[in-house]
Amino acid sequence: MLIVFLGAPGAGKGTQAKSLSEKKGLTHLATGDMLRAEVAVESELGMKARSFMDRGDLVPDDVMIGMISGRLKDTVSGGLLLDGFPRTVAQAEALDEALEAAGAGVDRAIYFEVSEEELIRRLAGRSTCPDCQRAYHDTFNPPATADGCDDCGTTLLRREDDRPEAVRNRLVVYETQTTPVLDHYRTAGKLVSVDGEQSIDAVQTVLAAAVE
Ligand code: ADP
Ligand code: AMP
Repeated sequence: MLIVFLGAPGAGKGTQAKSLSEKKGLTHLATGDMLRAEVAVESELGMKARSFMDRGDLVPDDVMIGMISGRLKDTVSGGLLLDGFPRTVAQAEALDEALEAAGAGVDRAIYFEVSEEELIRRLAGRSTCPDCQRAYHDTFNPPATADGCDDCGTTLLRREDDRPEAVRNRLVVYETQTTPVLDHYRTAGKLVSVDGEQSIDAVQTVLAAAVE
């Protein structure tokens, strides 16, 4: 099974991807997490990506397509959940081509629909585990102990691009560059919309039905 998660920053993709991929035994590839890992080790790719990420801009398509292509080869046969990719129509087309060459294709593109006010509330209160990438929220999804990850105990961090200026830009970038990807999958008959505004548990239930 090959699932793509689409939706604005803060829509809850990462939160749901973690539980769904564990439940279904899918490999979870989150391009934002992959990029942050490259930035942390100061690799050439990380250094190239960093300024785009800090501003809330998209990393150029050629860099992203190169990064994901390498991982697709080893992961596609076992079932895959793509979270944060594709974010442009060019990325979606490149993904289709790479999958076709591997004799595969996207089964479902799940679109998490969330209002802008809710996205802003979610990103303003988000903290993230830099080790296992689990996301928390000060009010909606707090950790059991103050500032430590429930899974691995690591001190939680605020993402640089969750600052209000970067969030404003990310929402504009999403609207202009990523929403056309919804049409790409709608036209292919693969888009399934999910009301992402509900509680984490309620979204999880709807999502489970959407991928069956
Ligand atoms: P994305 O991966 O789409 O950017 P996240 O999964 O990181 O989004 O979620 C963004 C923030 O919203 C996090 O702080 C997370 O704990 C919180 N969150 C996720 N889903 C929900 C939900 N259904 N209701 C309330 N808060 C949520
Ligand atoms: P995310 O963790 O998905 O919110 O991504 C964080 C940042 O990483 C984005 O704001 C972009 O700068 C970059 N990024 C992640 N995925 C992509 C992608 N598919 N295309 C371009 N940039 C990306």
